[in-house]
Amino acid sequence: MLPLLPLMTHCPMCRGLYPAESVKLIAERPRVKLFHSTCPACGHGLFYYIVENSGGAGAVGLVTDASALDAVRLMNSSAISSEYCISAHRVISTASRDLCQDLLDISGKLA
Ligand SMILES: [Zn+2]
Repeated sequence: MLPLLPLMTHCPMCRGLYPAESVKLIAERPRVKLFHSTCPACGHGLFYYIVENSGGAGAVGLVTDASALDAVRLMNSSAISSEYCISAHRVISTASRDLCQDLLDISGKLA
């Protein structure tokens, strides 16, 4: 495993320290790794995308509300097609009132 980079030791939201055991390797490809950690102080998650090359390593961090389990689940799920995205956009833009009413209608769904 890579030594912890500065990006991987402090929460960008509250500046809290991440315990080393909170940094989880989610996915690994040749010279590319995806890590996730959850801040024990504020609860924010962070993805770290690390790319290693002959000159060193580059890193990009992304604050997220996804947990490490969410990351693994999403890594193993199939991709959403462009047709599905377009259909979702059409429903939201043309029938948002009906969609919201359907989502909020809990009649008949309570035990
Ligand atoms: Zn934090």
